[in-house]
Amino acid sequence: MRLYNTMSKSKEEFIPLKEGKVSMYVCGPTVYNFIHIGNARPMIVFDTVRRYFEYKGYEVNYVSNFTDVDDKIIKKAIEEGVSTDEISQRYIAECKKDMEGMNIKPATTHPLATQEICGMVDMIQELVDKGYAYNKNGTVYFRTRQFKEYGKLSHKNLDDLRTGERSLLVSGQDEKEDPLDFVLWKPKKEGEPAWDSPWSDGRPGWHIECSVMSKKYLGEQIDIHAGGEDLVFPHHENEIAQSEAANGKDFAKYWLHNAFLNIDNRKMSKSLGNFFTVREISEKYDLQVLRFFMLSAHYRSPLNFSADLMESSKTGLERILTAVSNVRFLLENATVEAMTDAEKEAFAKTTEFVAGFEKAMDDDFNTADAIAAIFDLVRYMNTTATGESSKEYLQGLLHVITKLTDVLGIIVEKEEELLAEDIESLIEERQQARKDKNFARADEIRDELLAKGIVLEDTREGVKWKKA
Ligand code: AMP
Ligand code: ZN
Repeated sequence: MRLYNTMSKSKEEFIPLKEGKVSMYVCGPTVYNFIHIGNARPMIVFDTVRRYFEYKGYEVNYVSNFTDVDDKIIKKAIEEGVSTDEISQRYIAECKKDMEGMNIKPATTHPLATQEICGMVDMIQELVDKGYAYNKNGTVYFRTRQFKEYGKLSHKNLDDLRTGERSLLVSGQDEKEDPLDFVLWKPKKEGEPAWDSPWSDGRPGWHIECSVMSKKYLGEQIDIHAGGEDLVFPHHENEIAQSEAANGKDFAKYWLHNAFLNIDNRKMSKSLGNFFTVREISEKYDLQVLRFFMLSAHYRSPLNFSADLMESSKTGLERILTAVSNVRFLLENATVEAMTDAEKEAFAKTTEFVAGFEKAMDDDFNTADAIAAIFDLVRYMNTTATGESSKEYLQGLLHVITKLTDVLGIIVEKEEELLAEDIESLIEERQQARKDKNFARADEIRDELLAKGIVLEDTREGVKWKKA
């Protein structure tokens, strides 16, 4: 299995630190709003990476944090006149709902930054003791030049950085020994959440959070550290400096970064205002379509979001789901139990599709090619499964396709859930049928909805519906 390591800028063979185990840390979102579909890209991509390791028989310890203390959270809390905790708890709950919709497995641990402050104070103290950090008026800075390998992940040269940084010098920054130094701890401002520390009542910087949570839940050395490509610099570069300076060991063996999800070829982001939330997309599409769309491109290629691409992902996904439901139908009606010799031969051929899928995934998780292998299997299912097929053959096909689609987190045997707009249009059709005195059709629609768990109520304001 080969994966592209941002550190070496090349594909490397995956060799785990401990045989049969993978420890993986994925930087999670800052929770001050609903997540947008750009944030969903690393979630879907690295959940798929995790699933593939599990498919290969590895035990994966997957840690992904929520950053629940941050300027943006504080700003939102002030706007709403509520506590920062209320904001972060609310959006963690909403994020988890979206993750469930996208069939993203809960992490082994989802640590919260605010629950780990003690560990952060300890690591900062260690860095101060070792001469890697200093306190100026209650703010603690990391002494960047002290860490000789700074820049090794982002392949940046310190002197180039310094020239670039000079223009970024703003008031209050001159207390730093060097413009390259970054904040580990900052004193509170009026009304901000704060914790005790030897330097000031305050809160940690963002980078130290991940160094500490990764160490606590996965140890000083981990196999994989991942996130979006905007995190390479400075976030991950700073994490490396902190962790390696404190622990005296290499931090992560493999650094994986996904490319951006763009819209009109610009990065989708909250600050540009050009984003869709996962929740908005869920009103129009089953979130499986979004997942399928994200995996239709390689994770290191930029992906442009468009209605057309979503529609073609929907069609592609439906092709798979239809093939599965046809085989299921044939299975329910099949009369022959065991595979014939000819079927055994036909079934043996499915290993070719599995091999194609694994070859693609082994090559730096090439989900685009893995999906192509699934489509080949679908075509094969459509042509070889017939009314004469045995139960054993049909079950075998279902088993193979489910095993592969599971890796992508696509559920092929889910009961189809009706979307709000489909329900509304069925209700409209029923009203029309009643007007036309076609009561049989009106009743049929009521029953069809009931079978899908939707109850209709005739009220004075019109027809209302609810989930049974
Ligand atoms: P944030 O909440 O901004 O820290 O982002 C959480 C995660 O989403 C990080 O791994 C980011 O790199 C990633 N991310 C944010 N925007 C995008 C985007 N448009 N495309 C891909 N990944 C993104
Ligand atoms: Zn992080």
